[in-house]
Amino acid sequence: MKYISTRGNAPVLSFEDAMLAGLARDGGLYVPETVPRMTSADIIGMVGLSYEEIALRVIQPFVGDSFSEAELIDSISVAYAGFNHTARAPLVQLGPNHHLLELFHGPTLAFKDFAMQLIGQLFQRALNRRGERVTIVGATSGDTGAAAIEAFKGLDTVDVFILFPNGKVSEVQRRQMTTQRETNVHAIAMEGTFDTCQAMLKDMFNDFEFRDGVRLAGVNSINWARVLAQVVYYFSSAVALGAPHRKVSFTVPTGNFGDIFAGYIAKRMGLPIDRLVIATNHNDILHRAITTGRYDPSTVTPTITPSMDIQVSSNFERALFDAYDRNGEAIVRLMGELKEGGFGINKEALSILQNYFDSGRATEKETSLTIKSMFESTGEVLCPHSAVGVKVANESLGTAPMITLATAHPAKFPDAVDASMGKRPALPNWLADLFDRSERLTEMPNDLQLMKTLICERIEL
Ligand SMILES: *Cc1c(COP(=O)(O)O)cnc(C)c1O
Repeated sequence: MKYISTRGNAPVLSFEDAMLAGLARDGGLYVPETVPRMTSADIIGMVGLSYEEIALRVIQPFVGDSFSEAELIDSISVAYAGFNHTARAPLVQLGPNHHLLELFHGPTLAFKDFAMQLIGQLFQRALNRRGERVTIVGATSGDTGAAAIEAFKGLDTVDVFILFPNGKVSEVQRRQMTTQRETNVHAIAMEGTFDTCQAMLKDMFNDFEFRDGVRLAGVNSINWARVLAQVVYYFSSAVALGAPHRKVSFTVPTGNFGDIFAGYIAKRMGLPIDRLVIATNHNDILHRAITTGRYDPSTVTPTITPSMDIQVSSNFERALFDAYDRNGEAIVRLMGELKEGGFGINKEALSILQNYFDSGRATEKETSLTIKSMFESTGEVLCPHSAVGVKVANESLGTAPMITLATAHPAKFPDAVDASMGKRPALPNWLADLFDRSERLTEMPNDLQLMKTLICERIEL
């Protein structure tokens, strides 16, 4: 299995190299050259299997010979052993035809753990084998950073720097990043928004001298291995509800388009998915893009769903690449226009995207009301992100069972949940002392040169 860049001008890589590289050298994102197909019989064969067994079947065809079957089995097993639910991704029924996929039983209480725990294992294996050490730099709107730090802390093959927007993540999110003791992790509070952090990260990757000098590696959702790990729960949940005999739909609270793109891959692999619904908050660029064909970033408005406060949705480039018939030059042109302010999606490509994706948005008030009404009618406490999903899903219910992805545990966002339903969700026992732990972080201005210097000093180059 080979990986190619969405901009058509970077080396073709193996799974392992694409994973270690993160972003392609032409600024594009790596995608598999072809998407492996699952037959109905393959999907029927997943009925009754454990999450780990389904993960092996979904992931293996994309990995080629980068990892042996034994290595994959072992990595998957270690990755999910720390989850606090034996089903890993359990389904809860919300209504007659509506289910919630709880993706928050991992160590940092958000779905990011599904991918990050696994790639932590795969990085360690690959780097040990090569005798190499890398510098991971990640940008986070809150949950990625915590999940990356949790997955990579203490590993002897990596240093991890996480850039998060100062003052714009929840206190639980910040503390999950800043209270770790391991010296190979560095939490950086940056001036600006998530988009500022992400732009800084892209600049570092496009500075080849720096990139090669510190052996930069990326674990943001642009990393293909992360998308791949997330494909698994689309299969496990659809099979639990009757796939392949019955179609299901998914609604996904969306920011950087990684999670829902995993659903798109599942569908391309042959999983019978009816609708894939993009749920956005006030920062609704994707909803506007899918409905109008114009991709025009505006300024980011902070909301009670900070992990979705994004206006430049990186993984959307992968969907565009397919919609433009894998024409790298067309993507280079669109991304050039984006730098100048925005772009229009041509008619053909838009109709392909609309064939795969529906979309909707939730206002702050609607999100709050959904938390309250779901608690009252089902007893389920939703995090605000999941509530955005449930609100949009409720408008999209059809004949196929709807599965809404619950992307984080409500206790990660206690203030918003409390304000909505008048009850403060408690942290699970193993995190109960989070607010007593001491914090360690570095505040930084939005200055590329200073950031590069800091990283070089910390890794003693
Ligand atoms: C990251 C995140 C999202 C957005 O996921 P994308 O893959 O970036 O679209 C939604 N909700 C929560 C809680 C998250 O942490």
